[in-house]
Amino acid sequence: MTRLLILGGSDAGISAALRAHEVDPSTQVAVVIADSFPNYSICGLPFYLSGEVADFHDLAHRTEDEIMDEGIGLLLDHTARSIDHVNHTVTMTDETDVAHQIEYDQLIIATGAVPLRPAIDGLDLPGVYFLRSMGDSFAVNDFINVHEPRSAVIIGGGYLGLEMADALTRRGLNVTVVERTPSVLKTVDASLGALIGAELQQHNVNVVSGVAVECIVHNGTQLEIMGTGDFYTACDLILVATGVKPLTNVAQGAEIMLGQQGAIQVTRRMETNLPDIYAAGDCVETWHRFLERPTYLPLGTTAHKQGRIAGENAVGGSREFAGTLGTQVVKVFDLAIARTGLRDDEAIQAGYEPLTVESTLWDHKRYYPGAHPLHIRLTGDLMTGQLLGAQMVGHAAGEVAKRIDSIATALFHKMNVEALNELDLSYTPPFSSPWGPIQMSAQAWVASL
Ligand SMILES: Cc1cc2nc3c(=O)[nH]c(=O)nc-3n(C[C@H](O)[C@H](O)[C@H](O)COP(=O)(O)OP(=O)(O)OC[C@H]3O[C@@H](n4cnc5c(N)ncnc54)[C@H](O)[C@@H]3O)c2cc1C
Repeated sequence: MTRLLILGGSDAGISAALRAHEVDPSTQVAVVIADSFPNYSICGLPFYLSGEVADFHDLAHRTEDEIMDEGIGLLLDHTARSIDHVNHTVTMTDETDVAHQIEYDQLIIATGAVPLRPAIDGLDLPGVYFLRSMGDSFAVNDFINVHEPRSAVIIGGGYLGLEMADALTRRGLNVTVVERTPSVLKTVDASLGALIGAELQQHNVNVVSGVAVECIVHNGTQLEIMGTGDFYTACDLILVATGVKPLTNVAQGAEIMLGQQGAIQVTRRMETNLPDIYAAGDCVETWHRFLERPTYLPLGTTAHKQGRIAGENAVGGSREFAGTLGTQVVKVFDLAIARTGLRDDEAIQAGYEPLTVESTLWDHKRYYPGAHPLHIRLTGDLMTGQLLGAQMVGHAAGEVAKRIDSIATALFHKMNVEALNELDLSYTPPFSSPWGPIQMSAQAWVASL
């Protein structure tokens, strides 16, 4: 009987546990979790804080009982401190700080990521929050309920910052987003970023771009914020959303090798450099299917897949991670914004000669009520015609996610831009057109050659 120990019980850790038990039910699986929320969907935190999900328990992918019914042991509120890979033991502390040791035959590290702390003075002041864990969301929720803040500043205009701008606006706060770069959501090109900025402003979110926050101070009940270019504002609540970094302290202590952006270096079988130790999720680097090299692209979709592979391989399997394309979608007020694959700068770095063509199309037949513009930026290689990536902004009801997923599927199979036209895509006037929007954008790309 294999003793499989997993450090971390979120997307990657629980996926690993479930798969290992499925492949070899005789495996004794134990998951060590630093908090008491196994398998909660932290992707849902903005929707809990907005009030759209009323009960935080609903964020659980599975309940504790459902996980244990699968034969998986849970050690909640236990924090792994060190790994002795020679003796195959992990030392951990419980909620009373008492140390325990557990032996393992196979180990999977799935400790995730933590928010980046930018170089800003005052990040520890009351009223300044980060958002990563269930505990973080309770802290923000309690602050809103107790102090009834009227205004918030969100530092960082990435997907988390924008989801929270939407959420806090729904909670009745006046929100300002301060972003260091010239446009919000820098995962898409500036022309699409401008559409998102306009959507935010239409919902009374003040967008300040090109400003780096430098300092936060307390002044009575308010927080004052200073930034580059004499930027100054005051508010009641601050949320810092400037990205994440892999949480690798336990791995580092065991001399496990780190790679891209300090994430744990893994093979495509999710093996670390040490025998019998695998790693998966936001704490590891990610194989990019197009760049054909490791990157750091922390996403819930990837964490689930990598966890499943680590779990299978830890009990004797030999599966490889097929690689990421960075496919993602986010909802901001009435917009859905999505991307997959490479943008121009990334494509150039990878040795392609990219051409990106932007098309604005209707998301379904214009004569059927509710049609909205869908903005698509399609990127292909000028030399070969190979499809390289796409970015989209459309209405939240405009099937943006389905469309980016069609392109992600085409990218996965390394199709040409022109071949998108041959796909047999579904059509009825309320949902699409006989030539679907991605096909029309492919035609525009080919026509511009
Ligand atoms: C607000 C928000 C919204 C998001 N939205 C999306 C989205 O829409 N789509 C998407 O694809 N991704 C989204 N993500 C990213 C996604 O949530 C992460 O990629 C995913 O949760 C990573 O899973 P993970 O298991 O690797 O790590 P985590 O979810 O970070 O979990 C780490 C686990 O390790 C435990 N842990 C850490 N250290 C120790 C230790 N020393 N000992 C024991 N346990 C430990 C933690 O308690 C936790 O259980 C979002 C993230 C956030 C914060």
